[in-house]
Amino acid sequence: MTERSLRLILGDQLSLGISSLVDADVAADVVLMAEVMQEATYVRHHRKKIAFLFSAMRHFAAELGGAGLKVDYVAIDHPDNAGSLRAELVRAVHRHRPARLVVTEAGEHRLARDMAQWRAACGVPVEIREDTRFFCSHAIFDQWAKGRRQLRLEHFYRAQRVATGLLMTADGRPAGGRWNYDSENRRGLGRDVAVPPPFLVEPDALTHAVIALVDRRFPDHFGDLLPFGLAVTRMQAEAAFAHFRRVALPCFGDYQDAMKQDEPVLFHSLIAPYLNCGLLDPRAVCLMVEADYRAGRVPINAAEGFIRQILGWREFVRGVYWLHMPRYGERNHLDAYAPLPQFYWTGDTPMNCLKQCIVQTRRHAYAHHIQRLMVTGNFALLCGVAPREINEWYLIVYADAYDWVVSPNVLGMAVFADGGLFASKPYAAGGKYIKRMSDYCRHCQFDVDSTVGEDACPFNYLYWHFLMRNRDRLAGNARLKLIYSALDRFGPDRREAIRGQSERFLNSLN
Ligand SMILES: Cc1cc2nc3c(=O)[nH]c(=O)nc-3n(C[C@H](O)[C@H](O)[C@H](O)COP(=O)(O)OP(=O)(O)OC[C@H]3O[C@@H](n4cnc5c(N)ncnc54)[C@H](O)[C@@H]3O)c2cc1C
Repeated sequence: MTERSLRLILGDQLSLGISSLVDADVAADVVLMAEVMQEATYVRHHRKKIAFLFSAMRHFAAELGGAGLKVDYVAIDHPDNAGSLRAELVRAVHRHRPARLVVTEAGEHRLARDMAQWRAACGVPVEIREDTRFFCSHAIFDQWAKGRRQLRLEHFYRAQRVATGLLMTADGRPAGGRWNYDSENRRGLGRDVAVPPPFLVEPDALTHAVIALVDRRFPDHFGDLLPFGLAVTRMQAEAAFAHFRRVALPCFGDYQDAMKQDEPVLFHSLIAPYLNCGLLDPRAVCLMVEADYRAGRVPINAAEGFIRQILGWREFVRGVYWLHMPRYGERNHLDAYAPLPQFYWTGDTPMNCLKQCIVQTRRHAYAHHIQRLMVTGNFALLCGVAPREINEWYLIVYADAYDWVVSPNVLGMAVFADGGLFASKPYAAGGKYIKRMSDYCRHCQFDVDSTVGEDACPFNYLYWHFLMRNRDRLAGNARLKLIYSALDRFGPDRREAIRGQSERFLNSLN
């Protein structure tokens, strides 16, 4: 008789090709899926994110059932729900008496640690398989990183291009002649540029039921449940990506860094929630974009810019995360201890750029990269917010948030808490950057062209104050030399004015 395996599928493992299912025996095996409070509340996730994942899990369970697999699905409101994955596994082992448990490795360190206890808790062998949905395995990343003093995305990315052949010519050169078109990804959005409509899915009955459930069970969590337009099945996610390729990808490269009043998505793909939970496959996505370039449907700066995000950044931050966890989460290179400003939860601030980004985050559980990095992240950096607090905020507020992708982006990129493990300098900027890349300043009460004075944009004085405050740690950075020379040319009165206004401002937060 065939031995039965219990195969656990986690909420971010909604892929038919996941390693834990590749050898599933339809006649003998049972697939376990469980909605548990521990996962839904280890931080107080955005309500839309919980609804998205529960609905996507329920749809995925139906898809597996349709493929003939026996699925044991434990809903959050099941009367016997034990509240944690480990406890649900123990219950499932009693129900199904499997010979072994098969699972794909956890995406987050927190859960990987827990998995190490499962054998003892369940009393059956636990086979933990590699997550093969990424281009780069842990072993390959570790090998690449070995002996390097600094980890640089550009070096990793080129190696990935060569390894995969994506956007490469037959004789091993980068397509278009250059590896990187980053310098062509920075156009501001003129008034005449029409922004394409985002792709929205009409929720079905199952999603409506989940939305009602989340409304009832998670009343105190951050964020709006409605409107709800996220894809919750593989086919819907594929349709969302097809829509992006058709209407936005050709301009993705040009306007990657642009921001616009009341326009949350612009030319971005909005696919991170789908990639990160498994509804979309990163390889398939990159191949389709490469095909668009080769067929002449999109320019190289769009195709390369997009593929760099997935083949480059997404893989790179995952590699950094696993290389440096668990201590990575404790880094605080700049000794930043300020609390997170209360308005990060409400958007109630007169600074228009922050208000725009936070209000859309609360409503849509989405902000694009530059909004995250150069508005909310930059402001937290300038104010010296404690890395753990701002990291947790990012983990809570986005539908695509998982620790493996949040921590390096926040601690490494946004607030320089790792001291430059992979960023060559802090992404600190004054209001002029936001003015150049957006129209936010035109709708703001503060004067982005003033550095000090009651009307001055707080980003401006806080920027110089940040540099003064962190001179010991940052003045030696070659990329900040010119900036520190500029600061040194400020007279004592100007410096004192910046210091005084910054301190008054920082003391007034919260
Ligand atoms: C402070 C901060 C926090 C972030 N938190 C998250 C997060 O919780 N989850 C998340 O998936 N991404 C995160 N990112 C990266 C990036 O901002 C989002 O992936 C992107 O905004 C998602 O929107 P999109 O799907 O429209 O992306 P697009 O702009 O259309 O890009 C396409 C894809 O590239 C990938 N990508 C792009 N940049 C990055 C990056 N820096 N790291 C990893 N993948 C990247 C994503 O999968 C994204 O879907 C964060 C970045 C910063 C600076």
